[in-house]
Amino acid sequence: MSDASPDDIQAIREGVRALCERFPGEYWRELDRERAYPTEFVRALTEAGYLAALIPTEYGGSGLGLRAAAAILEEIQRSGGNGGACHAQMYIMGTVLRHGSAAQKSAYLPKIASGELRLQAFGVTEPTAGTDTTSIRTTAVRRGDRYVVNGQKVWTSRAEHSDLMLLLARTTPKGEAAKKTEGLSVFLVDMRAALGHGLEIRPIRTMINHATTEVFFDNLEIPAENLIGEEGKGFRYILDGMNAERILIAAECVGDARWFIAKAAEYAKTRIVFGRPIGQNQGIQFPIARAYAETEAANLMVERAATLYEQGKQAGKEANMAKLIASEAAWHAADTCLQTHGGFGFAEEYDVERKFRETRLYQVAPISTNLILSYLAEHVLGLPRSY
Ligand SMILES: Cc1cc2nc3c(=O)[nH]c(=O)nc-3n(C[C@H](O)[C@H](O)[C@H](O)COP(=O)(O)OP(=O)(O)OC[C@H]3O[C@@H](n4cnc5c(N)ncnc54)[C@H](O)[C@@H]3O)c2cc1C
Repeated sequence: MSDASPDDIQAIREGVRALCERFPGEYWRELDRERAYPTEFVRALTEAGYLAALIPTEYGGSGLGLRAAAAILEEIQRSGGNGGACHAQMYIMGTVLRHGSAAQKSAYLPKIASGELRLQAFGVTEPTAGTDTTSIRTTAVRRGDRYVVNGQKVWTSRAEHSDLMLLLARTTPKGEAAKKTEGLSVFLVDMRAALGHGLEIRPIRTMINHATTEVFFDNLEIPAENLIGEEGKGFRYILDGMNAERILIAAECVGDARWFIAKAAEYAKTRIVFGRPIGQNQGIQFPIARAYAETEAANLMVERAATLYEQGKQAGKEANMAKLIASEAAWHAADTCLQTHGGFGFAEEYDVERKFRETRLYQVAPISTNLILSYLAEHVLGLPRSY
């Protein structure tokens, strides 16, 4: 649990803001055009220690809590940048921290904290199993002191820019497991050793610059010691990390929304049409004001969820609601910002169209809006189970 004070969090925000000023819109635009990875930005964040915020001090991190991590990611988005290039390290690392052995933690966490090892890839989704995670088909079969992995992942983001991948695979066939949520296991795959020896990565070109890929496993051998926790319990380990993931993504959405609102308000004050600023028209003001209200409400939910999480209390309901309303607030702010800019919203140099595309992702990944609604309906409101 972190005891970061509001002043500490404010200092972190200012530090991240100062770092992000070195990476202006032009930097992100250029990368977006080439679909290139922001290597320098990620290096700068790592060197400043921000990506190790959640790693305990005994392993070389800052030992901060989720509120601090949320503030870091929010500020990146709010500056016009894109934390999607590196946000996963923050929440994937938690699986190793919570469920890894003492040997795994001391072997990996200090190197992840220093940046010597990048843990950015998270292989869960498959072509035939996105939302329905327990139906994944990638298998890991134990042979002596190794596991042999076969199968395919899709949307494995940052795989080309990561040294390690946290992989979810079936170790017991679904039909033979006591429950469909059992028989899944989590592994730490050293992709440097695996590339060309049973691991192949193929980039997928998408509407945003997200370095996402397909990953193929063909008799990939991994040491049995790379199993995280107990064999067969991997689904629970992945679920454990999901609240943190949702809260952090929600904080990014709040950052996006704040960027769009500031950008829209600024443009509305300065763009003169019919001899007066367009922002003098209530037709322009109201959507911006509404987006602002939605964003502030979403932010309260993010803060509430992060605080509960830090206190070790149940945060499932709040984490899901934070992700739902923050991703929608960001999208409404994006749409309003684009509309406020008129034709210029479509010009690359304003960054609006890029951020508009980027923020749309968060209603689909890492969990789609429908699945959050389904969680709330079933687990909070007690409505009948749907699937
Ligand atoms: C850019 C990008 C990056 C990603 N990065 C990663 C990553 O790093 N690692 C990783 O493992 N995955 C990653 N993902 C995958 C992402 O988590 C999935 O796309 C997401 O979970 C949805 O799964 P799906 O695409 O298979 O959709 P599907 O499961 O096929 O669902 C399609 C649609 O149907 C809806 N739906 C499905 N079932 C129901 C139901 N019962 N009731 C109502 N609606 C339903 C869903 O909400 C969704 O809108 C990424 C995806 C993208 C696009």
